[in-house]
Amino acid sequence: MNIKKDYRWGFSSTIENQWMINSLYQQLQIAKLGFHNLIFPPFCPICENELKFNERFVCEDCFNQIPMIESPFCRKCGAPMKKSETKCKHCNELNFHFSHLRALGLFMPPLSKMIHFLKYDRKTHLSERLGILLGNILVADPDSNDADIIIPVPLHKVKLRIRGYNQSLLLARSVSSVSHKELCLDAVIRKKATRSQTMLDYESRRKNLENAFEVIVPEKIKNRKIIIVDDVLTTGTTLDEIAKSLLEAGAKDVFGLVLSRAIRV
Ligand SMILES: [Zn+2]
Ligand SMILES: [Zn+2]
Repeated sequence: MNIKKDYRWGFSSTIENQWMINSLYQQLQIAKLGFHNLIFPPFCPICENELKFNERFVCEDCFNQIPMIESPFCRKCGAPMKKSETKCKHCNELNFHFSHLRALGLFMPPLSKMIHFLKYDRKTHLSERLGILLGNILVADPDSNDADIIIPVPLHKVKLRIRGYNQSLLLARSVSSVSHKELCLDAVIRKKATRSQTMLDYESRRKNLENAFEVIVPEKIKNRKIIIVDDVLTTGTTLDEIAKSLLEAGAKDVFGLVLSRAIRV
């Protein structure tokens, strides 16, 4: 047997001994984390309640309190409507290129905070749970059942380099695994580095996004029914611009699927 003297530990070290040392080290790390959590228990950053053993970062209560958009809602833009309303006041005068849109919930806490953590604080694991909830909406929606492929709204390459990931792509991955619909990542690019839309009105947003997207592999989307996945829909200009590019390149139909619908009152 090949026996080496390991002077750091003061005893002869075989491969088995090394494995034991590694295993012991890992167990010490777990114990250290457990001890740390005992003294400084992890809290949910949204409601500030202590997390239970099986909860990760955001607690179950916060997930249960997502302000879901339920019927009646506008088929065109996903905004909730009153039972007495026959026309949606949020998209009444807008002629979107996408056929219809579904949104999981309203852009307000706790959902808006989850999106903030996902988008700006690298809490990418939130996309798994939120993407599954979004996928369930798609599966239950009769108008989207015959869609062929899922395309996440692409980020410009510079923004992708800075952020390190595209949150819409992470969501789309979960949606694809729930719905068993094909994920298409290379057909459309964002060729224009647009400035932040947050402070812009509808017209400025539209100008900002004009020709922002380009279909670079049209054969992948030709005659297909496409679901575009995004995190937030405010005025709908981003989704509309990408839908326009896809339809011009030969797509048969485009639907929107977003995590949250921001309503301006
Ligand atoms: Zn919470
Ligand atoms: Zn509407």
